[in-house]
Parts: sequence; C-alpha cells; structure tokens
Amino acid sequence: MKIHEYQAKEILRKYNVAVPRGGVVFNAEDAVKKAKVDLGGNIWVLKAQIHAGGRGKGGGVKVAKSLHQVREIASKIIGMNLVTHQTGPEGRRVKRLLVEEGINIDKELYVGITLDRAQSKNVIMVSREGGVEIEKVAAESPEKIVKEIVEPDLGLQPFQARKLAYALGLKDDQHKKAVKFLFALYKSYEEEDASIAEINPLVITKEGDVIALDAKMNFDDNALYKHKDILEYRDLDEEDKLEVEASKYDLNYIKLDGNVGCMVNGAGLAMSTMDIIMLAGGEPANFLDVGGGANKTTVANGFKIILSDPNVKAILINIFGGIVRCDRVAQGVIDATKQMHVKVPIVVRLEGTNAKEAGVLLNNSGLNFEVAKNFKDAAEKVTAVLN
Ligand code: GDP
Ligand code: MN
Repeated sequence: MKIHEYQAKEILRKYNVAVPRGGVVFNAEDAVKKAKVDLGGNIWVLKAQIHAGGRGKGGGVKVAKSLHQVREIASKIIGMNLVTHQTGPEGRRVKRLLVEEGINIDKELYVGITLDRAQSKNVIMVSREGGVEIEKVAAESPEKIVKEIVEPDLGLQPFQARKLAYALGLKDDQHKKAVKFLFALYKSYEEEDASIAEINPLVITKEGDVIALDAKMNFDDNALYKHKDILEYRDLDEEDKLEVEASKYDLNYIKLDGNVGCMVNGAGLAMSTMDIIMLAGGEPANFLDVGGGANKTTVANGFKIILSDPNVKAILINIFGGIVRCDRVAQGVIDATKQMHVKVPIVVRLEGTNAKEAGVLLNNSGLNFEVAKNFKDAAEKVTAVLN
C-alpha cells in the first residue's frame, strides 16, 4: 500500500526522524492559515500530494515568499492535473497540499531502504546524488550508490550506519546526526512493516541539520492487519478504480495495458497464463486470480471487473479443477456469461477433475465459447479471435 508524503512524515516524526514542520490542507484558504498561524516565518514550500514522484519537475513543488504567494500558488496546485514521469501522460488530479516551512538547503543526498529480494534481506542504500532520479544514477553511475545489507537477526549495526554516513561525505556533527537519522529511519521501516522507505532528498541544511525533505513509504499489504493506523491512511482516489472494486470481491486484480482479459484460479497459473498469451503474440489486459473456489458468483464478479476495461477484446478463462470440479466451474461460467450478457469472445480451458464433462457442458450451452484442448491451444485461440 502506498501513502502520501505528509502521512509518511507523520509516521517518521513518531520515530524521531527529522522532518520539516508542516501539515496538509485541502484548499487555498487553509494553506494561508497553515502558513501564517501554524508555521509562521516568511518562506514556505507548497507540495502537491499524489502517489507519484517527480512532482518538483512537473510543477507540483513550489516555494512561496509571502502569504499572497501562498494563496496564489496553493490555488494553482490544488485541482491541477499534475503530470510527472511516474503518473503517465494522463497525470493525476491534485486534491491535497502539504504546506511546510522553507528549508535552507546546503546539500541534497539520498537514502532508501527496501527489501533486496535476491538476498532476502533489507538493504540500505545511500548516495551523494540526491534530489534527482535515483534510477538514473543507478543506471549511469552505479558506483555512486553505496549499500549495506542488514542481517535480520542482528539488525542495523552501528558500524554500518557510520559507514553509510561516511559514504554520504559527512563528518563530525553531521556524521553523528546522519547515524542517528539512519537508525531512526530503519526502525520506522522495520516496525511499521514498510516495503520502501525512501528519502530523496535527504538534506543537509545551511544550519548543519540532517533532515528528510521528501519521504516516500510503501507498506507490505500482508502486514497491514497489524497496523490499523496505516490502513486509515489509504487514499482510494489514488488507486486504480477497478483494483479497488476488485478488492471488494476478494479478487486479486491488477490492470495491465493489453486487450486479452484473463480469469484464472491461482496466482502462479495467472502468471504463466500471461506469459503464454505474450508468447502467442497477444497482450494480457490484466492479472486476475479468482482464488480456489471458482463458482458462478466469483466468475460473474470477475467478468464485471474485466469488462469494465474498454480495452478488453477477448477473454481467456484458464481454470485448473483440483479441489473444484471442472463441470461445476463450467456451469458457473455458463450462468455468469448469461447473466452478464458477455459480448466478447471467450476461450475456456478447464483442466483437472471432470474436465471432459465440463467441455460437453460448454459446447452444448448455446453460447459462444471456444473450448481449448490445452494451455497452448488456449493462448493461440484467444489471440486468433483478435485478428
Ligand atoms: P519530488 O519531485 O516529487 O521528489 O518532490 P521533492 O519533495 O523531492 O521536492 C523536489 C525538489 O524541490 C527538492 O529536491 C528540492 O530541490 C526542492 N525543495 C523541496 N522543499 C524545499 C525547501 O524547503 N527549500 C528549498 N529551497 N527547496 C525545496
Ligand atoms: Mn523527492
């Protein structure tokens, strides 16, 4: 799950990670109030809150030097369609604005924590090249990123934090502050079951402080049951409408860009179904795992979600009947197809218990199913109906 920058900073504050003072507002009036009454001072930064990075370049982060400017900039940013390299060309409508005290930047650095999947351990990465796209640094000059792997049974060790702070080019007091910062950040990452904690830029201020100017945190969905307060941070406006709808039916749905809708039971089978569609020259429109019990209701809900995507030109149903009987699934597919008035061609591949009976049911249903003999045949049939 993703959250907004201001929410990540609220969490970080609890762990004594240094962040600028500030708060979220939803309109220009409150932005002025926040700047004038809550923050004071004479320089503020206004930051569009969307679940995507690169806001600075896209015009979503602005410095205001008077309350008049706060109002002017806030009314421009709130409601704007912000396009960044992470939003795609359609952009994202800005509804929330973070108002912060202005920070005097001396240096912009980078620190990120995530899971290194190859090592099955958390990795802390730092770079002196902060405030820019870290993916670019990683691609063009990977030697500028220094990493430390954290042993899960030991946790972050002092020598590692010191090494990282040193790699950031910091000495004396700033080095000490950076070590403290890294420990606090790592603690928040671990205790909150985050999957990413990224501070870009991590800033050294002209006054010599080490502070998180930006903050991005993602969380492991499977651990959210332990973190009710983080669940409250969920912003459905920022999530794909169809994925939100699918989660209501307990369907695992991820929207993709192709035109072959897939309905599959089991995540592994769903992955290989997408692969074989690609191999046959097609493009999957989605990942959809309907779970173990593929009955009329789950299939109908699956159709509903898949068909809400206007790109879908054909559907491939690929179900393995291990615990569920294929003839039951076939009946479910037939009933759901009738109920939902599905117009696009449907290719069905059912394998497992009572697969033969299932094929007979589908062929005699009077509906327009293409019954596939096997996996490869299914992928070829569904790409053929597109041409
Ligand atoms: P992102 O573009 O979405 O990653 O948003 P960031 O929070 O990283 O902000 C982008 C850039 O805006 C930073 O790298 C800074 O250069 C600048 N910026 C943000 N806050 C301040 C601030 O308080 N003072 C100054 N001078 N610049 C800031
Ligand atoms: Mn940033």
